[in-house]
Amino acid sequence: MLYFSTDNNSPKVDFKEATIKGQAPDKGLYFPEKIPALDKNFIDHIHQYSKEEIAFKVIQPYVGDVIPNAELARIVAETINFDFPLIKVDEAIFSLELFHGPTLAFKDVGARFMSRCLGYFVKDSNKKIIVLVATSGDTGGAVANGFYNVDGVDVVILYPSGKVSKVQELQLTTLGKNIRALEIDGTFDDCQQMVKQAFADEVLNKKLFLTSANSINVARWLPQQFYYFFAYQQWKDKNNPPVISVPSGNFGNICAGLLAFRTGLPVSHFVAACNANNVITEYLQSGDYVPKKSIATLSNAMDVGNPSNFVRILELFDKEFQSLKNVMSSYSFSDDETKNILKEVYQNKNYLLDPHGAVGYVALKKYLDQHPHHRGIFLETAHPVKFYDVVEPIIHAKVPVPDVVNNLLALKKESIKMNAEYESLKEYLLTH
Ligand SMILES: *Cc1c(COP(=O)(O)O)cnc(C)c1O
Repeated sequence: MLYFSTDNNSPKVDFKEATIKGQAPDKGLYFPEKIPALDKNFIDHIHQYSKEEIAFKVIQPYVGDVIPNAELARIVAETINFDFPLIKVDEAIFSLELFHGPTLAFKDVGARFMSRCLGYFVKDSNKKIIVLVATSGDTGGAVANGFYNVDGVDVVILYPSGKVSKVQELQLTTLGKNIRALEIDGTFDDCQQMVKQAFADEVLNKKLFLTSANSINVARWLPQQFYYFFAYQQWKDKNNPPVISVPSGNFGNICAGLLAFRTGLPVSHFVAACNANNVITEYLQSGDYVPKKSIATLSNAMDVGNPSNFVRILELFDKEFQSLKNVMSSYSFSDDETKNILKEVYQNKNYLLDPHGAVGYVALKKYLDQHPHHRGIFLETAHPVKFYDVVEPIIHAKVPVPDVVNNLLALKKESIKMNAEYESLKEYLLTH
């Protein structure tokens, strides 16, 4: 499998190069040249396969021969060695819980897969790779955890000071060793901009071997398809495939679902669930894509004003607006609406949402209200304890704290404070 750049101005590369480079030299995103078609027989008999077999079948065509099958099978098995339960919330709505991994958010899947692939690729090289990543919250922890102690890889994480939750901050500032956290006096968009500039800086890239672990990296994006298949495997009503609602920020997660759909996974419709950062919601209404500055909300991992994966979504639908609209809708919700639904679902359905899942839930509900013959799944992208400071005042109760989080709360944060100027980042990278 080869990957082209969405800007069409870079040579095609294989999975290994796409993973190591992160972004194409022309600043486009890598995209698979052909979308594989999954065997219909496999889909029809998906209940007969283990989740390791499903994941392997899904990812193998994208990796090709750059990782031997036995090695890939090991990487896949390690990536998904936790549960992905589909939980019934009411007759029409199910929660796909993606928070049973080590950092309690769905990003563990992409980060674990990517770190293991990159670890494999650099095994025999004597050059050290620096993974440079901007996080709006959950990426940092997942990447830090995934790459912790991986030989030959250093990780530098940029996060917006004061704009991530306490648990999130501790997850990315307490590991040490090959993981370093830069606390940026700015927004997530500033962090992302600084990282993008570093990748575009030819002088810097001559001296250092940089790669990205943001959701633009194919090795993070592609494995996110796995749990859409796991959801379908657990879906009972195969004659009426689920509507799937995805709490969206950079749109990597939903874009993986759309890719799975294009390869043959049965899905009735996708709902892109957004907070006040509604660039895509507005795009689907007007046909005009107008990036904005990000707005801080309760669902902070979705505070993105210019979603990177938008270009991939266009690519998936051959840039045809109407085909995209037939498959995907989008709604945007305020923090007040998020709080109300979180409280209502807790009280009436006895299910505790996190703020991101709450946006996913309410968006699904809105779609199902207009399409009552359907039922659906929302992705519960993080454990509510990651956002206990937001959740507890809403439900007037304590969120049960898992042991992993208790251990974390006892650790001391270690970050390097930095202003939101690219030059500061550059100097840091060149001198450390
Ligand atoms: C990252 C994140 C999102 C947004 O996912 P994208 O792939 O950026 O759209 C949603 N919820 C949580 C909890 C996240 O960490």
